[in-house]
Amino acid sequence: VAVIGGGPGGAHCARRLAEAGLRVTLFEPRPSHEKPCGGGIPARGLERFPFLDDPRLPRREIRRCLLVAPSGREADVPLADPLHVFSRADLHDFMMRRALEAGARHAPARVVTFERAAAGARARNGGEGGWTLRLAAPDGVEGPFDFLVAADGAAGPARRRLAGGPPAGSLSQGIGYYLPGVSEDCITLKFYHRLNGYLWVFPRPGHSSAGICGTLGDLPTAGLKGLMDEFLRIRYGPEPLARSTRYAALIPATTAAPRPATMQGDGWALVGDAAGLVDALTREGIYYAILSGEILARAIEAGRPDEYARTWRRNLAPELTRAARYARGFFDPSFIERLVRLCARSPRVARVLSDLLAGRQAYATLKPRLILNAPLIGFEVMASRLRATRDVRPARDS
Ligand SMILES: Cc1cc2nc3c(=O)[nH]c(=O)nc-3n(C[C@H](O)[C@H](O)[C@H](O)COP(=O)(O)OP(=O)(O)OC[C@H]3O[C@@H](n4cnc5c(N)ncnc54)[C@H](O)[C@@H]3O)c2cc1C
Repeated sequence: VAVIGGGPGGAHCARRLAEAGLRVTLFEPRPSHEKPCGGGIPARGLERFPFLDDPRLPRREIRRCLLVAPSGREADVPLADPLHVFSRADLHDFMMRRALEAGARHAPARVVTFERAAAGARARNGGEGGWTLRLAAPDGVEGPFDFLVAADGAAGPARRRLAGGPPAGSLSQGIGYYLPGVSEDCITLKFYHRLNGYLWVFPRPGHSSAGICGTLGDLPTAGLKGLMDEFLRIRYGPEPLARSTRYAALIPATTAAPRPATMQGDGWALVGDAAGLVDALTREGIYYAILSGEILARAIEAGRPDEYARTWRRNLAPELTRAARYARGFFDPSFIERLVRLCARSPRVARVLSDLLAGRQAYATLKPRLILNAPLIGFEVMASRLRATRDVRPARDS
């Protein structure tokens, strides 16, 4: 099996295939690098993949979330389950090492293109695959491989070649900053008018990762950068901004389209970002990349690679499609203002948000949960208003 890309999706798939005894080559040109990313993995991710809870892999466990509405109104939301924040360089090294320890072979080269032998030639060889990969390296050809796993991320060439470009409206633009010396005990999520996305600050070991994302075309890159710079300058002063390292990157996502995008064909499959397996609301993708690598490896191991797309569509795709549907209304400024107000006044609403961030609240049951809790939420809001009036009165009297 040839795996193109050693991010979380490709590296985990390579590890699982090597463990199953298959011969795997993992093509990853970059040694250790800070991939443009927040690096946040919800509690659900560490429960499903306990290997991430390894003392050799540094992380911050964050238990508070500061929500900031477009008006500037804030809510401090306790997180019942921590958000785990990793440096992507550390995560990259760790996942690659796991793949190689299990027996995958590392080819440290960029795959430029690939092709497959014609069906007749494959049949004559008695083989299924016949994939040949061309590399950006001096002795640049490898193969033949029976199966091709494309895990080369949102900007890699594989998806376009195998399944066409990303679906319309599925891409977000992200601008990010690494902020040395900024390390808080909460994550910050800030929302803006006219932005189907948000700004974040995630504290990591040794630095913070900050960024802003919105649907591609919402705002020009300079506009996103302007909002981000202004926020950082006001919040932390000029110094961290001046010392920051910046990047821009695209974030794919699963769309609400009724017809799912192609993620698999004869002798090949896409995993992670290459398949657009990102939550369109939160832009969470690391968990889905690892999970898709896991499901594909299991299907290949069982000799039924075609089960991969079926399993995904049956079990995971409906939730990601719902995320895309919810995302449309979620970033509406009036909804966000209400949400932030409610989070500040009702522990029940704050808990729903905390569960959403932890990956414990499915979108499918979000509305029923809120409706069921509505009377108690109303009571909490009223009690909070009364408390606020009582606290203000003595000040007026004096
Ligand atoms: C700004 C931003 C913030 C984000 N924040 C979060 C977050 O906080 N939490 C979260 O869960 N998700 C977040 N995401 C999404 C997350 O980064 C991705 O979903 C995740 O990294 C996908 O993993 P992957 O393995 O599919 O791809 P990637 O991590 O992109 O890995 C792809 C790998 O393929 C390699 N590659 C590329 N081209 C080739 C080639 N031609 N040949 C060989 N190798 C190649 C690359 O070097 C890379 O190592 C964010 C994304 C962005 C852009």
